[in-house]
Amino acid sequence: MSSEKATALVLKVVEFSETSSIVTLLTREFGKVRALAKGARRPKGPFESALDLLALCRIVFLRKSSDALDLLTEAKLERRFRPPGGALSNLYAAYYVAELLNELTDDYDPHPELFDAADQALAALRTPCAVAPVLVQFELTALRVLGHLPSWTQCADCGIDVEPVGRVPFSHLAGGVLCKACRNRQKQIVSLSSGLVQTLARLSAPPPVEAPVWEARQLGELRGVLNHYWSHLLGHPPRMLRYLSGGA
Ligand SMILES: [Zn+2]
Repeated sequence: MSSEKATALVLKVVEFSETSSIVTLLTREFGKVRALAKGARRPKGPFESALDLLALCRIVFLRKSSDALDLLTEAKLERRFRPPGGALSNLYAAYYVAELLNELTDDYDPHPELFDAADQALAALRTPCAVAPVLVQFELTALRVLGHLPSWTQCADCGIDVEPVGRVPFSHLAGGVLCKACRNRQKQIVSLSSGLVQTLARLSAPPPVEAPVWEARQLGELRGVLNHYWSHLLGHPPRMLRYLSGGA
């Protein structure tokens, strides 16, 4: 059993006993960690308010070698998540970020770039921002970092270059745009505007380019694509989706 230090975002807190909780944390250093927080539910417990949902904290935990839960020994609050003026749209968007992080990452599989993208998204959502662009920026980064980014320039089936003109066929099952020859073989195709496909192709190339100023129409179109794509990747729609404005 070794003692580890990490920077962590609190993704989930579940009651374990009258006094203890099980917390799911996304750490920058170790990826997702699930740990028992003894005494967390006591009024003057050892973690005070550090284990608030979406809080950023510095933690110390004992890593168990077996299947047993890790043990959280310290949590110091660095930054609490509070939406501006109690804005529900920002709060729900932050919950949505936490849900995606929890669903998409594996225990002890660190992705510092994803952690930083989440931290940035949550920082933006603490301000009176336009929520939709913050979310799609985070989602595109998450897809890229985790290797799930759809193909925007080459046919997802046969690999040839796809010219983005007019409407471009896209298949979330195939994982990208399709050429004319392959579109007939694929089911559940949607067609995307070439402008959106071009923007996404530009955005998808690392290192990350500056976030574009999204047109409302493109943003709405992309929201629809992402909703289907997440549902396909996760096997179900994200639970928080219906609470996002224009999400469902
Ligand atoms: Zn093709």
